[in-house]
Amino acid sequence: MAQRLELGRITIHRIVEQEAALFDALQFFPALTPEFIEENRSWLKPNYFDDDNKLILCIQSYLVITPHEVVLIDTCVGNHKPRPAGPGATGLDEPVWDMMSSDRYERNLASTGLTVDDVDYVLCTHLHIDHVGWNTRLEDGRWVPTFPRAKYVFAERELQHWIAQHGKDSATCPWIGDSVLPIVEADQVELVKSDHALSEFVTLVPTPGHTIDHYSVRVGTRGEDAIVTGDMMHTPLQVRYPEIGMLGDFNSRQAEETRRAFFDHVSETSTLLCTSHFPAPSTCRIIRRGDGFDFVPKSD
Ligand SMILES: [Zn+2]
Repeated sequence: MAQRLELGRITIHRIVEQEAALFDALQFFPALTPEFIEENRSWLKPNYFDDDNKLILCIQSYLVITPHEVVLIDTCVGNHKPRPAGPGATGLDEPVWDMMSSDRYERNLASTGLTVDDVDYVLCTHLHIDHVGWNTRLEDGRWVPTFPRAKYVFAERELQHWIAQHGKDSATCPWIGDSVLPIVEADQVELVKSDHALSEFVTLVPTPGHTIDHYSVRVGTRGEDAIVTGDMMHTPLQVRYPEIGMLGDFNSRQAEETRRAFFDHVSETSTLLCTSHFPAPSTCRIIRRGDGFDFVPKSD
């Protein structure tokens, strides 16, 4: 089932590919210790960490329907893609996304009543493995754009960075080869600055740090808006402790500064956050707690 949210004149669907205990939290967040997890056990478990300290993560897209356009934000892992463990994928030990073959994502997309032909824009908050996968699909042994009419909106510096990285050593980022470069070759890329306004309903918000030119996406209008946060944060632990960096961060210090500034601002507003990876309901508001922050999951 796609999960649906109405916000003024726009509709947001969560298109889930996967929700599971995926990664060892101690590896995922290098500065984390078992003691620290234990101190936070009462609220982390069982919702966000399992008993083996694996992170419970959702892998999903947000499909946003405005009066002007249909926008798909991030495209998960995708099917039939070689994703070995180690540096060729997540940098983590488990090859959890190797050669996925699941119809869950496509079924959930279909349940919205829309098809791949209806998508006007595909927005990738950043060009990591679990945000670009369904950009392409396998057809007669070739990777072709999954969304044939769409413009794929990439931040310029982000794309440059990853093309350079792929040119230096393609084995470290195979997803660029099968999920990003085919979009460039098909001439379906729209290169933008990370503060680009797509329309009155959809605006990019620069949130750098996790990657070099990561953006989040504000959708809706003032007072009736949400921000799709991408990987500005991966788990609620990074709301309470914005200093916790993730293994794959481009610059963890900058990512921390981005989180603090963002939480500081958004906690003063009614803006809803649509997170990429928090388990269901995945949407929350940020509030102040002491001299820090906390999150309140949105009840359905
Ligand atoms: Zn991610």
